[in-house]
Amino acid sequence: MTAVEPLLQRRRTHRGGDLRPEHAGSRARLMGWAHRVRDHGGVLFLDLRDRYGITQVVFRPEKLNAKTMEHARSIGSEFVVLVEGTVMCRPKAMENPDLPTGGIEVEADALSILNTSRTPPFPLDEEGSASEDLRLRYRYLDLRREPLKQSIVFRHNMSRSVREYLSDQDFLEIETPLLVKPTPEGARDYVVPSRLQPGKFYALPQSPQLYKQILMVAGFDRYFQIAKCLRDEDQRADRQAEFTQIDLEMSFVSEDDVFGVVEGMLEAVFRRCMNRELKIPFPRMTYREAMDRFGSDKPDLRIPFEIRNVTAAAAGGTMDKFKEAAANAPEHVTGALAVPGQAGASRREIDAWEATAKLMGASGLAWSRVKGGGLDGGIAKFFAEGDAAARLIEAAGASDGDLLLLASGPRAKALRALGTVRTHIGAQKCTLDPADFRFVWVHQFPLFEWDEARQAWGAAHHIFTMPLDEHLAHLESDPGRVHAQLYDLAANGIELASGSIRIHRKDIQEKVLRIIGMSPEEAKLKFGFLLESFEYGAPPHGGIALGLDRLVVLFHGGESIRDAIAFPKTASATSLMDGAPAPIDPEDLKELKLRLET
Ligand code: ASP
Repeated sequence: MTAVEPLLQRRRTHRGGDLRPEHAGSRARLMGWAHRVRDHGGVLFLDLRDRYGITQVVFRPEKLNAKTMEHARSIGSEFVVLVEGTVMCRPKAMENPDLPTGGIEVEADALSILNTSRTPPFPLDEEGSASEDLRLRYRYLDLRREPLKQSIVFRHNMSRSVREYLSDQDFLEIETPLLVKPTPEGARDYVVPSRLQPGKFYALPQSPQLYKQILMVAGFDRYFQIAKCLRDEDQRADRQAEFTQIDLEMSFVSEDDVFGVVEGMLEAVFRRCMNRELKIPFPRMTYREAMDRFGSDKPDLRIPFEIRNVTAAAAGGTMDKFKEAAANAPEHVTGALAVPGQAGASRREIDAWEATAKLMGASGLAWSRVKGGGLDGGIAKFFAEGDAAARLIEAAGASDGDLLLLASGPRAKALRALGTVRTHIGAQKCTLDPADFRFVWVHQFPLFEWDEARQAWGAAHHIFTMPLDEHLAHLESDPGRVHAQLYDLAANGIELASGSIRIHRKDIQEKVLRIIGMSPEEAKLKFGFLLESFEYGAPPHGGIALGLDRLVVLFHGGESIRDAIAFPKTASATSLMDGAPAPIDPEDLKELKLRLET
């Protein structure tokens, strides 16, 4: 066996992206991976790649002995090599303007192959068509490729900007435990059996929620953490079993203060990581306004049309359904979308949008074209009398050439259906610039959600969310009407963050627990430690958590949040690279005093 190269005595002089024409004539020692080898019948070109870039190395038979040349010819794809040589300017015609190092090449005079490589299961030197499963299986190879590597670099830069910004604002980064009591985010916990106390389990945190609130009681008035969160959910669209949040909590604040910190932080990220200015403050709208105008609590403000309430005007026609909605207003509505320039949409397209509306619970989607100041086709015949058509067109804010789409029925259903149709049409028909980030705060969400399965109220966010001051009076008498100091940050139709001002008063907390049907005993069992801490001087506090993975994909690009995570899992929460989850040794089970049910 030959000795391993004493690399430390032969350090790299440059990295893969360093060399420029001004280095011509100097010596270079590079180490990296064989990205591509081209044998030009004699002269051999090697593109040597490392994290920083690619440098062209040339092996010339007239300058090298046969043995070195032969050695060079044995370099295979992804071999790890050390090359020494002289930096040369490339002849003008041979320059590669696509590479930062494209003006030079290194003429090799020494070569060591530091390691060989099996043939990669997919090529690393081109935009591959390899399946994602294969790329996940060999994640370390996919990470060598430019798109994923850039995403990881961006993520690092972003985390660093976040840390710097928040630290400058007097936030302390404090780690909270991974082995915890169950957390109240509402998803299923991952559980970890205790060996030292058989029969007992830890949960992995769904978020640091309880601990960050206790840190407020402890007097750390500005906390943050780039925290791993784990939720054992069925992996719906683009979720990960473990994901990362930028988690914040602050004492003695209102939601304005929380918004201000998040806006400042994102402004810093834009400037430092994207070299872009971000316009702050972000617009705000209440949940009610977001639903009324966009039928969504995460509206995409790039789509240039919104929902109009046309309940009264639509009842001016002869359609029973619209009259019914007006008779039952405001619990029922007729909403309209005037889709600009889409009067020419085909029946096929309109049918597809109707199918979408129905999927969202609407009974149908009425339509008509706006032409010559009147209605044409679809429901036009129901608006033939008097100025019924003109009134509807005006109420919908429509102009000639628009397509009018209407849904009516119970408020939430009709608006959500129109909201979903709006998003679909936006994606199909509008040119939405993915780099045009339209942030919006949506606040004052309802505090409770009716849980059909349990036939009881449940917390819309989590049970520590403070109702609006002015709704405290009807907290118990009319829970459905209570809105909360609960807020989301969204951009371009994507939810990016959620947070709230918390309940710090025992009496309010007890009422909320009562409304959702949690007995004092159950509460004590689950979060007794938090409630107890509140008895020792809990300051008013609030916070928020931003999904880091999603922010990376939004800002940097990518197909899914998997592209922002070095080692992600599949939809079934499997790691294709290491094979987790996997069975454990029966001996370990015995030690944990666990038996598997088969
Ligand atoms: N812990 C919450 C969540 O993960 C965020 C918060 O309220 O700060 O959604």
